Amino acid sequence: MLNNLFRSSGISRLGRHKTKKSMTAIINNLCVIGTGLIGGSLCLSLKQAGACKHITGAGRSEQTLQKAEQLNIIDDYKTDIAKAVKDADVVFVSVPLGAMQSVFEQIAKGLQKAGNSKAIITDAGSSKQQVLQLAEKIFPDHGRRFVAGHPIAGTENSGPEAAFADLYKNRRVILTPTANTDTDAVERVTSLWQQTGASVETMDAQHHDKVLAATSHLPHLLAFGLVHCLENMEDIEDVFRFAAGGFRDVTRIASSDPVMWRDICLNNREPILDMLQRYRVEMDMLYNALQSSDGEKLKEVFEHAKQTRDKFTH
Ligand code: NAP
Repeated sequence: MLNNLFRSSGISRLGRHKTKKSMTAIINNLCVIGTGLIGGSLCLSLKQAGACKHITGAGRSEQTLQKAEQLNIIDDYKTDIAKAVKDADVVFVSVPLGAMQSVFEQIAKGLQKAGNSKAIITDAGSSKQQVLQLAEKIFPDHGRRFVAGHPIAGTENSGPEAAFADLYKNRRVILTPTANTDTDAVERVTSLWQQTGASVETMDAQHHDKVLAATSHLPHLLAFGLVHCLENMEDIEDVFRFAAGGFRDVTRIASSDPVMWRDICLNNREPILDMLQRYRVEMDMLYNALQSSDGEKLKEVFEHAKQTRDKFTH
């Protein structure tokens, strides 16, 4: 399954060939909606690269925006998203997927009111098909300048305090432009990400959602499910007291933000259900092998899994 997903990726490496890293500022006014881990790290990285003249933050609570300003993530902020995007060259949306619709509507209102038809809008949402559908519906005149994106980088921590400038260094960012997306908007967003040290690849949104369901969304569900299942054991204290490296490796991501992960699951429901079903079949097979003390079967599965992981991660 994993082999097929990776082989058929059809990825093109737009960013690597077409745009060179520039030493001068590439954005005059960047507006970042959602100044948490993902948005905050982008700001810190672009500031470090000297790639932005001014960054305005916007979001939900003033407390978070104040914190982001104190941490020098943003230069100023506005609590009204429509006002914040007024003079933006680029608007970067890094809020949970469930908040995208309302944020997009406020951006559309602000850009329209200000007569700003040049701004490029891009996002960091972890699933892409529903975000694209929203963008097409909400930005009818602006759809060509919306570039859907997803940085393949993150941690289990949230908020402006969790942001750091090197988050995207040597990591991948996937953009999922459509046939309608302006080429220059894609190049501009590619260039922005390259300033952070990331490499940029483009992919069809449907393919993105399928691949990410397998490599990110399913593992998060497994981690949440594993910790939740242990929670109700009688010996819970001892289970966690004697937890060793393996347990920490497998469950680290169960400390991720529950709202963000609820939204990702609901937004990428079908591909995740498909992966969960495959995983169920696999677990049933292991259960049966163990129940019948079939050591050969267990060894065969473990050997295949080890070979596959070693092949793709070394
Ligand atoms: P985060 O640290 O929790 O930051 C989210 C930000 O969005 C906060 O500033 C929050 O403000 C703001 N926000 C929440 N609800 C809002 C609303 N209704 N209207 C306006 N602003 C709102 O989350 P994150 O990890 O940066 O994730 C942001 C996006 O990136 C998500 O779409 C996620 O799928 C995607 N992503 C995450 C990762 C990862 O590993 N974390 C990786 C790749 C992509 P308040 O503090 O005021 O609530």
